[in-house]
Amino acid sequence: MNSETTPNCAALGFDCARIQKTISLLGLEAEYGKHAEHLRSEFIYEKVDALVSSCLDKLVLYQDFSLIKKNIGVESFKQSWIDYLSCFGQNFDTPRYFENQLGVAVAWARTKTPLSILQLQHCLIQQVLVDSISVQCNRDPETVWSLVDCVFKLTSLNLYLTAKGYRLGEVDELQKALDRLSEEASQLHQKVATDQLTGVLSYSSLMDILEHQANKAKQNDSPLCVMMADLDLFKKVNDTYGHLVGDIVLQHTAKRIQTAIRGFDMIGRFGGEEFVIILKNTDLALARVIAERIRKEVADTPFHAKNFSIEITISLGVAMLRNNEYFETLLERADSAMYEAKKNGRNRVVIADNCDAAP
Ligand code: GH3
Ligand code: MG
Ligand code: MG
Repeated sequence: MNSETTPNCAALGFDCARIQKTISLLGLEAEYGKHAEHLRSEFIYEKVDALVSSCLDKLVLYQDFSLIKKNIGVESFKQSWIDYLSCFGQNFDTPRYFENQLGVAVAWARTKTPLSILQLQHCLIQQVLVDSISVQCNRDPETVWSLVDCVFKLTSLNLYLTAKGYRLGEVDELQKALDRLSEEASQLHQKVATDQLTGVLSYSSLMDILEHQANKAKQNDSPLCVMMADLDLFKKVNDTYGHLVGDIVLQHTAKRIQTAIRGFDMIGRFGGEEFVIILKNTDLALARVIAERIRKEVADTPFHAKNFSIEITISLGVAMLRNNEYFETLLERADSAMYEAKKNGRNRVVIADNCDAAP
């Protein structure tokens, strides 16, 4: 049995052995193939349209029938049952038959046709077949019995496969809905994790990452440095060129910082015109070199925004994680060092004192 040609059987574990088990459990012996053929040729083929119509006349009274009208239309519902009945029980003991019945039920589930309507329709078809057999063969009880028995057993099999396939269709739909949701969630997460103006990490993900990196550095006993970088006299840029130009300068600043740092360093927007850079596995000496590189990258070339050439500088404070220090305190020390740089004339790097605080 090929799982590519019988995907629904494969999904539900209907291999040849289970198919045989199912039909023998329902008492569907080999001779039922002949009974089914007899049924189709004498009781179904010529009257299939009338048989389905008489079932639909009853089903129409069912309260959920409006869903059929709405979801797939009465005509295509009717045609599906004509197709179903035309090959009623044909090759019922083959994987193809199982696959077909399951596939139809999967399709019903996708159209959101309630399972109860399908079950009812199976029962109504059973009823009209039994009625028609008993009317036509009333003088031959043995034939009546074998054909009615065949209708009951085949309907049981079809009901069982409909329920199984329907569940598969629902799971399939649920999986699709789940995939859509998780795609939306990851887009949302991406949006929340990114600063919308500059494309660097947002404040919230910056804090999450810093906390995580501080814990990791403590565990691994590896050095971790943090930089606080703040544009100098940025308010003047806004006042002179306008807020939109200020935004462009912020975008360029983020790019220039990214150029100056290494691939594994992380940069986030702390707020306004302040950026934080996380340098893992980095000691103060190396952090100072990188901070100088950022300072020069910003100061050495004027920014071009809307035909303006804007000279701007940046002040940086650098701190290294102390033993048993919380990430918040590390950030505060980097911030104080940055203010020290401002006090000392801006456009410079100040390294925070790294002696462990007194207990
Ligand atoms: P200092 O050198 O002391 O840091 O001076 P400063 O002018 O840079 O500092 P201050 O805190 O006085 O001003 C920061 C300015 O940054 C004020 C605010 O309007 C501006 N700003 C904050 N966020 C944004 C933003 O998203 N876009 C723009 N264009 N400006 C912003
Ligand atoms: Mg500033
Ligand atoms: Mg500031």
